[in-house]
Amino acid sequence: MPPLTKMEEKIKEILKTVKYPGYTRDILSFGMVKKIEFRDGKAIINLYINTRNKETADSVVKEVREKVLSLDGVDEVEVNVETLASKEPPSPKTQAQAKSSPFADQKKIEGVKCVIAVASGKGGVGKTTVAVNLALALAKKGYKVGIMDADAYGPNVPTMLGIEGAVPQVIENNKIMPVDVGGIKVISIGFFVEKDQPIIWRGPLVSKLIEQFLRDVVWAPLDILIVDLPPGTGDIQLSLVQKVPVDGGIVVTTPQELALQDARKGTKMFIEVGVPVIGIIENMSYLICPHCGKRIDLFPHAGAKEAAKAMNTKYLGEIPFEPKAAEGSDAGRPVVLYYPESEQAKAFMNLAETIIKEAKCIETLQ
Ligand SMILES: [Zn+2]
Repeated sequence: MPPLTKMEEKIKEILKTVKYPGYTRDILSFGMVKKIEFRDGKAIINLYINTRNKETADSVVKEVREKVLSLDGVDEVEVNVETLASKEPPSPKTQAQAKSSPFADQKKIEGVKCVIAVASGKGGVGKTTVAVNLALALAKKGYKVGIMDADAYGPNVPTMLGIEGAVPQVIENNKIMPVDVGGIKVISIGFFVEKDQPIIWRGPLVSKLIEQFLRDVVWAPLDILIVDLPPGTGDIQLSLVQKVPVDGGIVVTTPQELALQDARKGTKMFIEVGVPVIGIIENMSYLICPHCGKRIDLFPHAGAKEAAKAMNTKYLGEIPFEPKAAEGSDAGRPVVLYYPESEQAKAFMNLAETIIKEAKCIETLQ
């Protein structure tokens, strides 16, 4: 933006109070304000809003209009808005326009072919267990795999892989070497914070850390980078998609009705930020009896399947709960590596197979 006049500065200040719906950050810090102009009592504001959701865009525009109009000296407000939806279908012209969008900072990670994010609407559904075992299963299938633990609120990837307390090596030019374990490369917020230290990650700080994980970690050469996102929707998710093209998103849920509502939330989050949803996986679908190995259904209906259908996305299958395997997982022995004959490990291998088929970025690797 060119230097602002005094009035334009005032407008900019008030735009800092407009939060992007569902996030703690404002539209200015997200780079959604493209132009501020003030002439003869009229304010002109150009926005790029990173969403396909018309309601989200409308509510931002409404708030911008109201707040700017409340300023002394502003008689008229013109808000020009471009959204993700208005850019589709892509044509050479819209690609040129995209250069000024919040995606302008999007850069592929050097030497990484495919980025897949694992999310959940809420905590406690075993999202990290799925992310870790999926990464290991894909590695077993012969792919070069990395996992980036971006869960600032509960970075559990190191615990599950038995590498708590590992210290990633910093090499020349401040590049960070990921930790090698079980055939995959690992980096985690957990390596950089004290355990039990209260983590208050404010937007800009998280954003910076994500940036470092993407740009300063020596990932290459990698076929697939799995990103374990924090549960819910928030700044980390948006920071990630603004910095790097995410090729696909997976949503983890459990069969309970409440969890399914959260799965819808997770799916919506991916859709809104323009990440193609690969599908929904149902974790802890049923119990493997520790005595006879038979299947025990804990919840009556196949809800994840229905949720996937309702969200017009793919149902990626079910992962059972197996007590023996769960114990191992908490003790840093992931099932795919340590109990490959278990039903749970087999389910993860099947999931990997499905992901290979469904994720377009992996398809092109072969
Ligand atoms: Zn039994």
